[in-house]
This record gives sequence, C-alpha cells and structure tokens, in this order.
Amino acid sequence: MPDPADLVDTEWDVSERAWVADYLDHGQVAASWMGASRCRLCSRPNGSRDLSDGSYLWPEGLSHYVLDHAVRLPAEFFEHIEQRLQALDDLQRDGTWWRRAHSTPTGAVRPTEHAQVPANQGRKWRTSGGMQPNDPATHA
Ligand SMILES: [Zn+2]
Repeated sequence: MPDPADLVDTEWDVSERAWVADYLDHGQVAASWMGASRCRLCSRPNGSRDLSDGSYLWPEGLSHYVLDHAVRLPAEFFEHIEQRLQALDDLQRDGTWWRRAHSTPTGAVRPTEHAQVPANQGRKWRTSGGMQPNDPATHA
C-alpha cells in the first residue's frame, strides 16, 4: 500500500465511509499474524489478521484507515464492494429448496436434490474479475 497520507480525502462522505468500513470489518479471516500492525497515521494498534471476501484480501485495520482517516480505496476495490452490497440487497428468499432438499430418515440429504442447491446459489455469488487473494496491491 502506498503512503496512506497521500490517499486521504477529507471530502469523502462519512456515511459512505461507514458502510465501506462495515463491509471491510465483515470479511472472513484468511490469515493471522504474530503481533499487531500499527496505523501509519496515528500509530494505534491496528489488527493482526488478513480478511477476505473471496475476491480480495485486506488487512483488518483497513477499515480504520477508511473510517477514521478517510483514506480512499482503489476505485476498482470500491466498485467491487458496491456491487457486492447491491448483490446482497437483491437476494430473494427461496423456501422451495428446503422442501425439495428434505433429509432421508438417516439424516442424509438426497444427493440429487442436494446437488442442485450449491449450483443455483453459486451463480448468485459469483463475482467477475477482481484481483486474486494475496494480491499485494490490496495490502496496507
Ligand atoms: Zn489511525
């Protein structure tokens, strides 16, 4: 990550920063490191893990830079977050597969019905493009 001081945008709307930071805080833990990093702007301890949404990898302290210092994310990453949140907002409940995928008396899900669920769900969650996890461009 370049010097975060060069990426501060004091005009960036605080409510927009808040939902971006909230998204960043809800990544899955991809890695844990010994000892916390320190914020490069205020020196507070700022996390020791890497988080991911399956497309991007970022240090858990990135939300602090966004929320508390108004450090702008790369446009590509910001647009990815917007698209992911919109996709979540657009999801519809489908109770029909619960009935189709009922379990057998032994508790096992019938293979043919079970196989349909991830295929349908997977399409909803597929993301296009984006950087690969571990891309150093997304690291602070
Ligand atoms: Zn800071």
